[in-house]
Amino acid sequence: MFWKGLEEDRVRCELCAHHCTIQEGARGICNVRENRKGVLCSLVYGKAASLVPDPIEKKPLYHFHPGTYALSFGTMGCNFRCSFCQNASLSCGSPTSAYLKEYTVKDIVREALKYDGIAWTYNEPTVSYEFSYHVFREYKKKGNGYTTYVTNGYMESEPLIKLVPYLDAMNIDIKAFTDKFYREVVGGKLQPVLDTATRAVNLGIHVEVTYLIIPGHNDEPKELSEFSNWVKENLGEDTAVHFSRFHPDHRMRNVPHTPPEKMEEARKIATEHGLNYVYLGNLPADNNTYCPGCGTTIFTRSYFSSEKPKLKDGKCEKCGRRIPVIYRNTHRIV
Ligand code: SF4
Repeated sequence: MFWKGLEEDRVRCELCAHHCTIQEGARGICNVRENRKGVLCSLVYGKAASLVPDPIEKKPLYHFHPGTYALSFGTMGCNFRCSFCQNASLSCGSPTSAYLKEYTVKDIVREALKYDGIAWTYNEPTVSYEFSYHVFREYKKKGNGYTTYVTNGYMESEPLIKLVPYLDAMNIDIKAFTDKFYREVVGGKLQPVLDTATRAVNLGIHVEVTYLIIPGHNDEPKELSEFSNWVKENLGEDTAVHFSRFHPDHRMRNVPHTPPEKMEEARKIATEHGLNYVYLGNLPADNNTYCPGCGTTIFTRSYFSSEKPKLKDGKCEKCGRRIPVIYRNTHRIV
């Protein structure tokens, strides 16, 4: 949907910030978009590597319809090449893998209607943009379910704007807060990711952010402070921030797990910088939502489930402070 033809049957993809120029017969960096005789084609349209219901908390989205389930779609390909990837079998998987199952838009929508929403997740959703666009658009005609992207945020502005009528929420990875890390470890640039996050908030999409803390690579207090400050200034102090614990994986098997103390230190830094909702993932931790005004426990969470909240008209039952959680009555009490 977003590309231009160039001379000699070359094309330029304009879906993500890489802007790949692709020769006839070749693929872009994501390995799932191919130039066929001067036409850029998606190789993963309608192809799922995974299609299962997940608790929305698993994305993670904690302030968005807690206690509900999203049909979760993932396929092959990614526009980043993170050394620490925790889902490399999909991000580096082949779009021609026999492991992929084919579905139509109607198949996915029919299945999604059994749950509360849809999540495009597991691999980078941007690289299967067209299928997500058609599924979300059809799904929104059928009821009031929600749609979400769990993304690295490297999508260009025009595709994001086109998706806005059909996209409710995003969890955006901010993988570090230096361009050096993005260039050397991720294979991209930091600024386009930050631009996507602010753009999404300005477009009215619910945004939460995840920061994977990798020991010795992106865990310096100065970097965590700059990240926290940026979130507060650009996305707002009520943005839900998820610090996630690293485990050795892919090409970073020589780096140890993040120590639990480092995770708590990150939470302390973010809280001291004025962020009201900071959570820790991939380890046992207190992940309840507390009212920043009076300390009342609003949501009690246990791993991927949330209990019925202490909210009245979106406000803390005790002190009346507005709690920024999108919540509806279909909540399942677990
Ligand atoms: S989506 Fe893929 S082909 Fe398009 S610019 Fe990004 S990496 Fe390149």
